[in-house]
Amino acid sequence: MPDAKIIIVTKADEDESNTKYAQGGLAVVTDFDKDNFQKHIDDTMRAGDGENKLEVVEMVIKEGPARFRELVEWGTKFDEKDGHLMLGREGGHTENRIVHHKDITGAEIERALLATIKKSPNIKMMAHHYVIDLITQHHVPGKIFDMEKIDCYGAYILDEKNKKIKKITAKITLVATGGAGHVYKNTTNPIIATGDGIAFVHRARGKVSNMQYYQFHPTALFSKRDGMLFLISEAVRGDGAKLRLKNGGKFMHKYDEREELASRDIVARAIDNELKISGDEYVGLDCKEMDHEKFVEHFPNIYQKCLDEGIDPFTEMIPVVPACHYLMGGIEVDMDGQSSIKNLFAVGECTNSGLHGANRLASNSLLEGLVFGHNAAMKTVELLKVNDFNFDDLKAVPEWNEEGMKMMDEMVMVSYLRRQLQEMMSDLVAIVRSNSRLELAKKKQREIYEAVTELYNYSILSPQLSELRNLVNVSYLIIKQSLLMKENKGSFYNKDLASKPLTINE
Ligand SMILES: Cc1cc2nc3c(=O)[nH]c(=O)nc-3n(C[C@H](O)[C@H](O)[C@H](O)COP(=O)(O)OP(=O)(O)OC[C@H]3O[C@@H](n4cnc5c(N)ncnc54)[C@H](O)[C@@H]3O)c2cc1C
Repeated sequence: MPDAKIIIVTKADEDESNTKYAQGGLAVVTDFDKDNFQKHIDDTMRAGDGENKLEVVEMVIKEGPARFRELVEWGTKFDEKDGHLMLGREGGHTENRIVHHKDITGAEIERALLATIKKSPNIKMMAHHYVIDLITQHHVPGKIFDMEKIDCYGAYILDEKNKKIKKITAKITLVATGGAGHVYKNTTNPIIATGDGIAFVHRARGKVSNMQYYQFHPTALFSKRDGMLFLISEAVRGDGAKLRLKNGGKFMHKYDEREELASRDIVARAIDNELKISGDEYVGLDCKEMDHEKFVEHFPNIYQKCLDEGIDPFTEMIPVVPACHYLMGGIEVDMDGQSSIKNLFAVGECTNSGLHGANRLASNSLLEGLVFGHNAAMKTVELLKVNDFNFDDLKAVPEWNEEGMKMMDEMVMVSYLRRQLQEMMSDLVAIVRSNSRLELAKKKQREIYEAVTELYNYSILSPQLSELRNLVNVSYLIIKQSLLMKENKGSFYNKDLASKPLTINE
């Protein structure tokens, strides 16, 4: 879109995101001798427990190779040997199809995309600018708010340097705010992942669904500290690493015949169950029998991290635990990334596009971002040509009003409530849920919501308070949509609904 003026607003450094930490790679069919679209479609549907939208799965997987070639044209480097792409395998995939750049694929993709953006004079990047809320007719004086016809006119944005909130109006707005891992105590997500986009679309009355489906990654590096845990990529198990109890005993054969290569939800529940039985803090990932040279070549970042933590993966097991990783639900979008709000698009992990269903197949999310990003851009070009925008309303959007608000003098209230929320979600609404835990969570969530609303109503906004408010909204949606479930699907597991036992032979 060389003629359109584009502003990218991001709340941290321009490269800080979940994308930066993606290790395993991008799932895409490239080796048509052994692999084909149907196999990738079947694997995606199986992981999603059939809750995926087939037409979306087909579209994304078939568009994948074109979007992958585009990335290469923009300068992204993928690992090759003798002129052929090196293809990795991850849990749930029946073929080797993961293209990667060592174990820092996301960072490499981001590097190439940021360099491409820098060469585009029509794109302005505003780092350390925090989006507080979307602007809809609700903000325009004299407009009647019609739930059936909501229009988006841009967003209110806090400039973190001068603490001023400004309005940015736009014909088209696109939300790509990533996941919400910090609604739990332990997550593989960086600190930016606070579900902001999902929360502000929900507050603007946009449709948000499938929030009950949160994927826990089975193998995050165990740490005594809460917060962001380092991920030990699934590709390590794909290359032959085995899961063991602390005493060296095997256990995955009890849960699935694919053992270590079963889909994430199964492996995460298996570890969660074994930890509950043994009372241990972690299980071990045994890489001792793997080809050491290949390991260092394929996973240099993981290898270095282990050494930094005093673990030699070739002589001892890597201690791992499940951690909150990827949100399948989010803002409802169609195949072009259009949300239920007019002129508002959403792309990536903040969406429920229909691709992942009840559980995401490993390495399908970078693919989703690429395909939907492209489709949203194409649709935007079309809409800009039609030019059916409400220019009077866009002009009438008022500035942000802080009258009567005061500076918050006790930030401890925000950090305390955030910890309370994360504890509650981790104890009551995590890998294995139950009716009574969910009911208790609903009650506790309400108490936290009321305390946060009180703070919000009199305080001058800070990103910390706004993120807390967003996490509270996200927790509300997860609990509410979990309580509506009548059967277990994919990543969602309520032990009171279980028709199948957790282990194969029970
Ligand atoms: C450790 C790890 C490993 C992973 N490995 C893989 C993998 O190998 N393959 C794969 O396919 N997927 C992987 N994933 C998942 C994948 O990386 C993410 O789902 C994907 O990158 C999300 O991209 P996104 O563009 O939707 O969001 P992000 O990349 O998270 O970007 C969101 C952006 O929005 C900004 N933002 C958020 N809120 C606001 C706000 N209020 N105001 C302004 N800006 C805001 C953030 O600062 C950030 O820049 C991994 C995830 C993690 C955490």
